[in-house]
Amino acid sequence: MKFTDLNAHGGIGANCSLCELGPFKFVIDSGLHPKYAGPDSLPRHEIIERFSLDFIILTHCHLDHLGSLPLLSREQPDAPVILSYASSVLARRMLSNSISVMKRQRSELNIPELPYYGRGDLTSLYDRFKTPPLHTPYRLEKNGEFIEITLHHAGHVAGAVSVNVKYNRKSVFFTGDILFNDQRTLDGANLPKEPVDILVTETTRGATEIPKNQSRESEIVRMLRQMNSTLAKHGSVLVPVFALGRMQEMLAVLDEAFRKKAIPKVPVFCSGLGMDLVNHFHEISKNTNRVRFNRKVLKSIGARPLPKKIEPGRRPPMDGIFLVSSGMMVENTPSYVLASSLLGDAKNSILFVGYCDPSTPGGKLLSAQKDETFEFDAVDVIQKTEAKVCKFDLSGHANRDELLSYAKKISPRSVILHHGDPEAREWFKQNLKDEPFSIYDPEPLKTYEI
Ligand SMILES: [Zn+2]
Ligand SMILES: [Zn+2]
Repeated sequence: MKFTDLNAHGGIGANCSLCELGPFKFVIDSGLHPKYAGPDSLPRHEIIERFSLDFIILTHCHLDHLGSLPLLSREQPDAPVILSYASSVLARRMLSNSISVMKRQRSELNIPELPYYGRGDLTSLYDRFKTPPLHTPYRLEKNGEFIEITLHHAGHVAGAVSVNVKYNRKSVFFTGDILFNDQRTLDGANLPKEPVDILVTETTRGATEIPKNQSRESEIVRMLRQMNSTLAKHGSVLVPVFALGRMQEMLAVLDEAFRKKAIPKVPVFCSGLGMDLVNHFHEISKNTNRVRFNRKVLKSIGARPLPKKIEPGRRPPMDGIFLVSSGMMVENTPSYVLASSLLGDAKNSILFVGYCDPSTPGGKLLSAQKDETFEFDAVDVIQKTEAKVCKFDLSGHANRDELLSYAKKISPRSVILHHGDPEAREWFKQNLKDEPFSIYDPEPLKTYEI
């Protein structure tokens, strides 16, 4: 197989891999880099000749995998886009939101090329969607030769799939973003166990050591304890979350906590896109028993939209739990503005439940010391770090040891390290070096013959 990582910045970003297997040329995912705007946020599509792709596969709908798909599909109008049914539902909402965000960035950041795509591009993209059932081979033909693509349930977020591609008795397995553990709203990954020739594995948590006795459940208990202590002091709790997946999972966690009286009943405020996606999760759950979600959860916890009058640096008009995006507290998002309102008061707490890149405001706040001043530049507010700031390990990604033992189980001839920072990949290199596999840590934009 020929493999080229088109994510120019390396690590996790504008995920997009170009693969060639026999006569078939295809791309897995086409994302937008969350830390950049404008041309820097795009994968290097220009390397792919127009009209040359036979198909495109989408693993899931986080924007670092999906965000530039309409652009790629416009350049490759003959290529069908293969994805799960759940992703086909979620992609529509995520991409139309992405157009609105890009339109806003056009004036805010003065980037005239934005938005990169419009509603017309989305319509033509949706016409090319193919949604084969999971765990069932889907065949494509070219000049009398066949390739077989099988999507497998990957956990991580509703719709996420790992992908097995078979051509001429050779098989390549792409994990995509993957979580083996069950969540409240989603079953863990269900992957094939038979050997493969090439494994392309995500490595997101390669640099994360999990303390003994720590589990997802123990982290939920620790988080509820912190919520309790904040609410007992009549403080507010801010939980920055990704709108897709993490928000719905946290709604389910809060619903259960209220029912079991693990925390007192207080108002819960949610922000726009995540609340809309609640309806999409509800629809998806009717078609699969792997996703468990009922929109009634909003009613049962008494969720309300965020009050309009949230002013940066000022106490919000009501106390409660604020479950709002973005998860990394990116500038000018509801979580960023609310943090500027809550950080200066020791009664409040800010609880992170997902990955924060160290260079984002969320990452910086996590490393800030108590009493240190913290600048919210984008809204012109400076606050002393008085509120309790904590992180809980409720990641949507598999632990490194789980990925390692999966790799050993399916005994590939070659392993390609993917979707991870350099330290994370290094851990996998060290821990796989005694295995009889060739390990590749591909440099961006360089083509490897594997
Ligand atoms: Zn993801
Ligand atoms: Zn990802």
